[in-house]
Amino acid sequence: MISRDARKVVQILQEHGFEAYVVGGSVRDLLLGLKPKDFDVATNAKPAEIKPLFRRARIIGRRFQIVHVQFSREPIEVTTFRSNATPGQDKNTGGNRRQQTDTGMLTRDNVFGSISDDASRRDLTINALYYDPSDNSIHDFAGGLEDIDSRTIRIMGDPATRFREDPVRLLRVVRFAAKLGFTIERSTEKPIRKLAADLSHVSPPRLFDETLKLFMSGQGLATFWLLHEYGLFDQMVPQLSNLLKERESQSSSLIEQAFTNTDLRIRANKRVTPAFIYAAMLWPSVQHLAKQYQGQGNSPAYALNKAAGEVISRQVSITAIPRRFTMPMREIWDLQLLLPRRGGQRAKRLSEHPRFRAAYDFVLLREQAGENLEGLGDWWTRYQEASEEEQQQMANAQNQDGKKRRRRKPRKPKTD
Ligand code: ATP
Ligand code: MG
Repeated sequence: MISRDARKVVQILQEHGFEAYVVGGSVRDLLLGLKPKDFDVATNAKPAEIKPLFRRARIIGRRFQIVHVQFSREPIEVTTFRSNATPGQDKNTGGNRRQQTDTGMLTRDNVFGSISDDASRRDLTINALYYDPSDNSIHDFAGGLEDIDSRTIRIMGDPATRFREDPVRLLRVVRFAAKLGFTIERSTEKPIRKLAADLSHVSPPRLFDETLKLFMSGQGLATFWLLHEYGLFDQMVPQLSNLLKERESQSSSLIEQAFTNTDLRIRANKRVTPAFIYAAMLWPSVQHLAKQYQGQGNSPAYALNKAAGEVISRQVSITAIPRRFTMPMREIWDLQLLLPRRGGQRAKRLSEHPRFRAAYDFVLLREQAGENLEGLGDWWTRYQEASEEEQQQMANAQNQDGKKRRRRKPRKPKTD
């Protein structure tokens, strides 16, 4: 089950006298009987030595140089063995290839080393297994095989130091615990809560990438609760932390339901988009803020729009959600206001809106989470199943209701 491309990369490197192994998540997943997402190769060849051996290869990254080798579809990531040596200790590099901030965070990590050096700078023991396809052997420098057997997540080295070096490791620990159903070992677990605030040192684009892996793993719900438990979720979506406390039931059941639905869709191989998840996570904040603006005398549409803009810009400063996702999020929210107004020709026009499907799913989600929308989801379900003639009748009936209701309302006296 090892990809042919990965085996080919290892073989070519070995033929040129280098050491090379399949490493990381793919070895772990294969040992657990799971299908690996991607294949990584580690070698003692330097990036500049790797590149000329392959026709389609390019060096990428600065913080962490990697060679992407492409044969067929997915590129194979080839990394050179790295060392944990601190600047100055390493004679070969002049000490300027590894950089650290004053909080201990690594900003550059290109000091090369031996295979055992490389093993000790990986994050978890279960991610530090090296597989050699030429003799079918696994090299285990950190007790990773034992931890796979006992289903344990254990960070390598001193946990607090390793988390400070790269706070994304806090999230990786939780991600693998939830995804694999493993238990986080005690000394690994202990500093997580205290160091959660270090996530603010992670760049917003990287944090966004990591949230995708967390929420789109098929174990989003379990991941959400673990993140919440360790105080990590508060760091990732701080706008929500008060609401999760204040209005315990509604906000958290909406998010819980969103993850439940997403997990089911992923397991059924259906399409999922981060826009929908983020729309759900931020909806309680948007509603909360929109209500305030409406209370100040603004129209519902204006209030929603203003609230949406503010909530998104706050979130984007933490996780850089790209515009191709924030645009659909706003459309889903806008449509929450429009979908109840479905009289006359409106129903047909709404049902043809490019974001209708997502907005309708969002209505169902809100209802599942316990919000009372007066049968709105059910109405739209029936509408979509109805014949054209019936659809017109349904829309007309809405119109009648609308008109009657409007007539009963006393008119505002004109002021001008
Ligand atoms: P998956 O691809 O299933 O999400 P993975 O373990 O392969 O899981 P990758 O992000 O592909 O994760 O990383 C490949 C390997 O690189 C990891 O298995 C680990 O050994 C190492 N690694 C990745 N990120 C870090 C990190 N932040 N700190 C230390 N080592 C890391
Ligand atoms: Mg991987």
